Amino acid sequence: MTKQIEEVARLILTSKRIVIFAGAGLSTESGIPDFRSPGGVWDRYDPEDFSFQNFLSSEASREKYWQMATEMYGPMKKAQPNLAHLAIAEMEGLGKLDCVITQNIDGLHFKAGNSEDKVIQLHGTAMVVSCLTCGKRYDRDEIQERLRKGLKAPYCDDCRGPLKPATISFGQSMPEKETQEAYHRSSLSDLFVVIGSSLVVQPAASMPLVAKRNGAKLVIINRDPTSYDDMADLVIHGQAGPIMESILKEVKKGLNNP
Ligand SMILES: [Zn+2]
Repeated sequence: MTKQIEEVARLILTSKRIVIFAGAGLSTESGIPDFRSPGGVWDRYDPEDFSFQNFLSSEASREKYWQMATEMYGPMKKAQPNLAHLAIAEMEGLGKLDCVITQNIDGLHFKAGNSEDKVIQLHGTAMVVSCLTCGKRYDRDEIQERLRKGLKAPYCDDCRGPLKPATISFGQSMPEKETQEAYHRSSLSDLFVVIGSSLVVQPAASMPLVAKRNGAKLVIINRDPTSYDDMADLVIHGQAGPIMESILKEVKKGLNNP
């Protein structure tokens, strides 16, 4: 693996527009349960109950939604960035990051030190709650505190519209601005690095393809094989944290001894 790590480091050193694509694997390495796995939240709740349409349809379904959302928020709030998050944040500091496109809603890229304008959150964020009517945004903890005090479904202070975590739910369309921006950055990148994603969820899964078609080198770092492995310039199978830490070490060596 040493050879592959050196090779990825060399690509990072020689590239100018590096886009990182971060998947759920990064969150699970920080101890955030994969809610779709056995024993996860979806074993006890029916995902259909939590569609966007359902959320809009009744007070009872909003209460149920918030009950589940509260359960999911606990481990997310406690989670700390792992070595991969930290390496990505360090890449920004070294001027080696165009942006991170992330499917994760846990805000860990920010906890690791990435700045707002470097992270494109394709599925929104669980750290913010927004009003579905007027768009007003609230800090998640502030709303959780209202729930803790007994409120079952929160409403907007300004317009009484229903409040929902600013994440993309089943049946809710992808955020237009973020999706377009992600495609745009992918097409302009000269190095596209997938970390911790098996690239099955669309439209995100087509972004490496867009990058590759426009001339980028494609690197995939994931625990399991993906259907894009064949077209990648480099594939490393394993845990993202330790791999990214080793890559960063090589990058820094290279920067110090050009
Ligand atoms: Zn409102």
